[in-house]
Amino acid sequence: MTYDVIVVGGGPAGATAAHDLAEAGRKVAMIDRDGRIKPCGGAIPPRAIWDFNIPEDQLVAKINTARMISPTARKVDIPIENGFVGMVDREHFDEFLRARASRSGADRHTGTYLRIERDDQGSHVVFREKETGDEVRLTGKVIIGADGARSKVAQQEVPGGDKIPYVIAYHEIIESPGKTEHYDPTRCDVVYDGKISPDFYGWVFPHGSSCSVGMGTEDLDIDLKKATADLRKASGLADCKTIRKEGAPIPLEPLKKWDNGRDVVLAGDAAGVVAPSSGEGIYYAMMGGRVAGRAAEKVLATGKAANLNYARKLWMKDHKTVFKVLRSMQDAYYKSDMRRERFVSLCHDVDVQRLTFEAYMNKKLVAARPLAHIKIGIKNMLHLTGLVRPEKV
Ligand SMILES: Cc1cc2nc3c(=O)[nH]c(=O)nc-3n(C[C@H](O)[C@H](O)[C@H](O)COP(=O)(O)OP(=O)(O)OC[C@H]3O[C@@H](n4cnc5c(N)ncnc54)[C@H](O)[C@@H]3O)c2cc1C
Repeated sequence: MTYDVIVVGGGPAGATAAHDLAEAGRKVAMIDRDGRIKPCGGAIPPRAIWDFNIPEDQLVAKINTARMISPTARKVDIPIENGFVGMVDREHFDEFLRARASRSGADRHTGTYLRIERDDQGSHVVFREKETGDEVRLTGKVIIGADGARSKVAQQEVPGGDKIPYVIAYHEIIESPGKTEHYDPTRCDVVYDGKISPDFYGWVFPHGSSCSVGMGTEDLDIDLKKATADLRKASGLADCKTIRKEGAPIPLEPLKKWDNGRDVVLAGDAAGVVAPSSGEGIYYAMMGGRVAGRAAEKVLATGKAANLNYARKLWMKDHKTVFKVLRSMQDAYYKSDMRRERFVSLCHDVDVQRLTFEAYMNKKLVAARPLAHIKIGIKNMLHLTGLVRPEKV
């Protein structure tokens, strides 16, 4: 039998694509290797909850304050107005998404993707089945590569897919200490300190009974475990029991092309789609899976493989500007402790707080309040040129 679509990877991107396509009545197969919990802080914005119908019971914590911490340990608490940041536990969240896709009619296969073969019968995805160890071949009209960072599908099939730059992120899942002088289970801490990360940031993300503490960096010489141990110490979490230690790459830049012009389109981390500055990838992966599904629908309806590029077009229309702004923010402020100090200082401004959080929560840059934009622009300039001291603005 020939599938309409074969999805490789059953993380947020792949499971969303498989779910959408199966709901639309397409014959879909989803292959996931299973067995490893994705290392992830698990923070998702309300927009993800609405757009993808995430049930309340998947949220292990609701965060109502984001604390920005500067290199000199200055703390700025940003209240999250009109909502909360949700926390999911990837062990259960990913399985929930895969099971939902399967309930919608997607055929679920457990195994490791190996390659795509092509002949006059069509395109065949070859994977090693987990239970039997056998190589299995599935035939499909369109293939969605959603196999995460360092995607094999991207490397084999899409130009540039083997050249995505990465931040390496590492975190430890620890037992929550409950509410203490240093720790609040409803507050995220974001630590901008060159001693923790010279070019990204460190975090403390509560997950109910547990908590993710970690950091990311592009600098391969940094000792990630030591940086995380230092962060745990500084956050009063050194003595909490460690449940897991794990790391993974976070892509830094969306690929210029997400398809091979023939039968493959990428989604999520496989396409390099993670927000600069924050490293937020779950929402964008789910959206990537959704637009890859739409592109597949278009190819199936028209028979034209050129329509595979519809995925990237749709995605860029909605998110290109936000990514550009976040990229310039990272380039401007993540360079040195002096710049990080200024960045945290800027976060004192209520308009900066509102604009950044609205952009995070709703995935839109709000065009209202033009005066606020002008004021922020001026403050930004004053900080970047060093014309004001951090504590003055
Ligand atoms: C330490 C860390 C912390 C993070 N924190 C956050 C956060 O707080 N919030 C946020 O939004 N984002 C965060 N991210 C980013 C986020 O985790 C990713 O962007 C997101 O998981 C991407 O989803 P995806 O479906 O594209 O890929 P993945 O989640 O990686 O899913 C890929 C799937 O493909 C499967 N797979 C891979 N290779 C094969 C193969 N050969 N054969 C079969 N199956 C395969 C895997 O089993 C997996 O299920 C973090 C990342 C890291 C590393």
